[in-house]
Amino acid sequence: MSAVLEVKNLSFVYGKGTPFEKKAVDNLSLSVEKGEFIGVIGHTGSGKSTLVQMLNGLIKPSEGQVLLDGRDIWSEPKKIRQVRFRVGMVFQYPEYQLFEDTVYKDIAFGAANKGLTGAALDAAVRGAARFTGLRDDLLEKSPFDLSGGEKRRAAIAGVMAMEPEVLILDEPTAGLDPMGREILLSQIVNYHKERGNTILLVSHSMEDIARVADRILVMNHARLHAFDTTERVFAQGASLDAIGLRVPQVTRIMQLLRQRGVDVPESILTVDEALSVLSALLKKEGKIW
Ligand code: ADP
Repeated sequence: MSAVLEVKNLSFVYGKGTPFEKKAVDNLSLSVEKGEFIGVIGHTGSGKSTLVQMLNGLIKPSEGQVLLDGRDIWSEPKKIRQVRFRVGMVFQYPEYQLFEDTVYKDIAFGAANKGLTGAALDAAVRGAARFTGLRDDLLEKSPFDLSGGEKRRAAIAGVMAMEPEVLILDEPTAGLDPMGREILLSQIVNYHKERGNTILLVSHSMEDIARVADRILVMNHARLHAFDTTERVFAQGASLDAIGLRVPQVTRIMQLLRQRGVDVPESILTVDEALSVLSALLKKEGKIW
């Protein structure tokens, strides 16, 4: 494995030198391997958005460096646009950025700007539409005729169509109903499995993060609180409690059982895992057959 993104002593200050000066990211160093699925968690205002905007060159660090494939993204500021194609960013409520007269053109917009044309562009657009579950017949409609969930998926497809090496999604399921959240999350997981590229998913939902992330990056008051495997971060519930974040409910229940002497693993992350551990245990004790 090799690092696709590396961050060295990264800091960002809003309103430097004004009475409103605010350090939003404070001296962060970390690296992300190619193909990893990283979950980013932390309270509102902890610096998550500022961090991810620095990773794709939307804002320039006040101090420190962002390396993409070993190269400082600001070494040639004129080429920063290229970085934004390579590190694709899906903002919160991205559907507000749809503006073309057809869904197809909207999905194609970024990829065409990147330089894709003809059959390659068409394949990128249709591939991205497929990843997000948009039917072919929707592509010729106006984005304004789509449902809320479909608009969201069209906007995400527009970033996927740029075929970025790293895809960053900032709260992609915010505001969707439970079924819509479930479907979108599994589409992102399928995209990651098929494309094998690197994903950073910013989310408030510990349940979602627990299901999909290889590693979790925890931000707290502009600093890196933890960056470790999902199992290890959630096994240390007390450390998350201390900063007011909670492990997924099912993880907490299993940790309480363990504290009471029930032989279950330290870090159970999903309801399905809990079910299989508990039913094996009950079978062993002859309580069910
Ligand atoms: P998060 O994504 O975790 O909610 P942000 O990166 O948006 O956190 O914000 C980190 C801190 O920076 C917060 O204190 C926020 O108020 C401040 N901040 C964010 N954007 C701006 C801005 N454009 N101008 C001034 N302060 C900002």
